[in-house]
Amino acid sequence: MASGGGDEGGDDEKEALRRRVAALEEELGRTRALLETIFARIPAVFYVKDGESRYRYGSPWGFRVFGLDPAKAIGRTDAELFPPALAERFAASDRRVLEGQEMASVSYAVPAQGRALHFAGVRFPIPGPDGTPVGVCGFAVDVTERIELANKLERLATTDALTGLANRRRFDEHFAAEVARAARSGEPLTLVLCDVDQFKRYNDRYGHPRGDACLVEVARALDGVVRRPADLAARYGGEEFALIFPDTALEGATTLVERLRSSVRELAFEHEGNDGHRVVTVSAGIATVVGAWTVEEIIELADRALYEAKKAGRDRHVAVHEERPPASFGRTR
Ligand code: GH3
Ligand code: MG
Ligand code: MG
Repeated sequence: MASGGGDEGGDDEKEALRRRVAALEEELGRTRALLETIFARIPAVFYVKDGESRYRYGSPWGFRVFGLDPAKAIGRTDAELFPPALAERFAASDRRVLEGQEMASVSYAVPAQGRALHFAGVRFPIPGPDGTPVGVCGFAVDVTERIELANKLERLATTDALTGLANRRRFDEHFAAEVARAARSGEPLTLVLCDVDQFKRYNDRYGHPRGDACLVEVARALDGVVRRPADLAARYGGEEFALIFPDTALEGATTLVERLRSSVRELAFEHEGNDGHRVVTVSAGIATVVGAWTVEEIIELADRALYEAKKAGRDRHVAVHEERPPASFGRTR
């Protein structure tokens, strides 16, 4: 009885164990299916890499975004899957968490269908049995809409609504940066202040809307003389405009300003009140500086030159060139 009972008990135990294993397997299957459903639908890049930065898991959405075939991507590294610059950035943040950083934030852009998709996310280590990292887990979401909105707001905040040129705010920022750069480099920096001649009379004679239309065309002419990425044409205020020409000496800037004056005259906007010039014209003050100058000093130089051009009869430029030692000579003003 004892042994028979023992056998019976053993069978019962085995049966109970079998059922338990079956139940656990079923639960595991359900959990797995649930996780797969979540990961399949979650609109995020999610992945797991091993200690050698080889992909062990990647979310379907992530594979789609990067245009990767999951079967080919698993087991590979970033260097094998992405362009070198992107792969290096990924590898750098992986290294940070593998070397012990608890979390690394990442943001990057990937080209997709002719536009850039922006992502922001985090990476964190997967701890092994003794706590040291044995892999990396990463998660990133698409923030393209937010970035595009921020870019659009930034554009609006720095663009003049009437003319589409850079506004005063953008001018201030750009000019301050170029003044500081020129003070260090010792390269010439040219500022042009340009003002529409007798514009009050233009408004009085032809009306404010035509005045506005005229400013739009003058702005277009200004835009036509900026070529280099660091050059900037801005609406300085009212009917006054500014041109920033970094690394540009007086001679080059003067050629550009003369081209600008010609294109404004060629607009051939009738302007009876413009002291015999008959068409809309502009006057310009050109200031080229070398060395350590302040923003205010350069504006003052250009403004004074502009005033001289007005006084001398308008539709002309006056240019000044001033030199000081660069900032590295120990002088800041
Ligand atoms: P000067 O040749 O000495 O520059 O004479 P000016 O009449 O151009 O100079 P003033 O500064 O006396 O007048 C500037 C005029 O520009 C007055 C103002 O109504 C006009 N103005 C400024 N901003 C705008 C604008 O956005 N639209 C229009 N239509 N006119 C503007
Ligand atoms: Mg004027
Ligand atoms: Mg003015």
